[in-house]
Amino acid sequence: MSRLLGLWRRSLQVRVVLSTVLLSSFVIGLTGSALLTSVAAGLAERRQEVVVAEARSGLDAAQAQLDAEVESVPTAQSISLAQIVDTLTQTDPSARAYELVLDGPFGAEDRTAPRRSSTALDADAVPADLQQSVRSEPGLFWRYAELSVLGAGNDVPTVVVGRQLTSPSTGDTYAMYYLFPLVEQQTTVDLVRRALLVGGLVMVLLVGGVVLLVSRQVVGPVRLARRVAERYAAGNLEQRMHVEGEDDIARLSTSFNQMAASLQSQIRRLQDLSRLQQRFVSDVSHELRTPLTTVQMGAQMLFDARETFDPKTARAAELLRTELGRFERLLSDLLDLSRFDAGAAQLELSEVDLADIARRTRSDPVAGRLGVRVQVMGAARPVKVEADVRRVERIVRNLVQNAAKYSGSPVIEVEVGQRADRVSLVVRDFGVGLDDDENLRVFDRFWRADPARTEGGTGLGLAIAREDAGLHGGTLRAHGRPGEGAEFVLTLPRRVERPEGEVADEPAVALRFA
Ligand code: ADP
Repeated sequence: MSRLLGLWRRSLQVRVVLSTVLLSSFVIGLTGSALLTSVAAGLAERRQEVVVAEARSGLDAAQAQLDAEVESVPTAQSISLAQIVDTLTQTDPSARAYELVLDGPFGAEDRTAPRRSSTALDADAVPADLQQSVRSEPGLFWRYAELSVLGAGNDVPTVVVGRQLTSPSTGDTYAMYYLFPLVEQQTTVDLVRRALLVGGLVMVLLVGGVVLLVSRQVVGPVRLARRVAERYAAGNLEQRMHVEGEDDIARLSTSFNQMAASLQSQIRRLQDLSRLQQRFVSDVSHELRTPLTTVQMGAQMLFDARETFDPKTARAAELLRTELGRFERLLSDLLDLSRFDAGAAQLELSEVDLADIARRTRSDPVAGRLGVRVQVMGAARPVKVEADVRRVERIVRNLVQNAAKYSGSPVIEVEVGQRADRVSLVVRDFGVGLDDDENLRVFDRFWRADPARTEGGTGLGLAIAREDAGLHGGTLRAHGRPGEGAEFVLTLPRRVERPEGEVADEPAVALRFA
């Protein structure tokens, strides 16, 4: 059932064919049943005119016979009534088109006679409302009824005609009923029904087949277009659709090809531009390194001799050394980022114990200098993961030092956790926190919450940390609440080699600010 539902959702062709078949079955069924009803009604109506006339003449004959009767003794009367019934049904039962039922006399004490009928029928077989009408008024009454007594167990549509008979000699009233089973009409209706059913079924199948053929003509090219678009989206920018003829599909293919060509040229242009920029950043960083080393050596000499300078110059020498240190870090961060951008960053994998890395954060020099206490949680058991230890240490160091420098929290929590397929490390602080917008912006290059407070940083630390996490197929996310604190969650897969495109995201540690 769920497979069928899935097919219905996914396949345009299945949907078109199935809904056409269902709708046409409905329409054909409706038309067929209307046709059948009108055929049955027409047949019954014609038959009814004939049979009512036949019954009328029979009843008139019976009444005439009664009128001619001179017997006034009830027994003799009933005998002659029985004779009337017998005469009217004398013909061979197989050739006779009706059965007769005689009921009465009404109001008389002796109810045993002359109730009589041509077969084993009882007066009770006659519908009660017709009996009522016949008894109450002298006219001719008739109606349709489904009677099972006449057929072999099945209900047979029957025309029942009845009228009162009165005996002038005794004054008794009787009721006589003609029952005409419409067997022949029923057979015809059955035949028509069967023909309509078979015809309808064949028609529905034919319609289904035709729709299948027609929809294939439309769906085929659409499917082809889908496959081409998928390959294009997967990065195969050379993909184009085959154009044939001048119909809508051909025009769609032409437009698709134009779009693909224009996208391809734009992407190429942007790729070239981006490659140029990457080269530029990487070249500039490289080129600046050599002179920087010379300048740093000079600055170091000045710094070492600062005692001999006047205080102002000594201060300048100190500043020069600090800023040159920052400049060097900036260059090396830029080089790192340009390697990520060029897709040239490589992992050096080994088995790493995340719990061990977490424990070592207790002796972080920056946190120690700033008097911030680092509390480590969940690190009693080893948390093994396949990773590049240098990169993971760099991420954790960056997170801990950021929390110490920027949050203003006196305590930092470092918590590790693991699941079967992934491990997580959280660095949590209880300081200034981050709002919803900053959660994302902290990872932007050169972004700082407070540009005046650089704390010797470059604004690239978190951007690099996120690239490092992504290189492992993991994630680095930030959560926080203004004034309450922030937590940075690093989640890595246990094994770097995973199915294409899969990323370890759901953290293996319970979060406080998420
Ligand atoms: P850098 O430390 O070099 O300035 P980062 O990319 O490491 O660059 O951090 C970017 C900015 O994010 C920081 O300047 C700081 O404003 C903000 N930030 C980072 N960690 C926290 C934290 N734990 N609490 C509050 N702000 C933070």
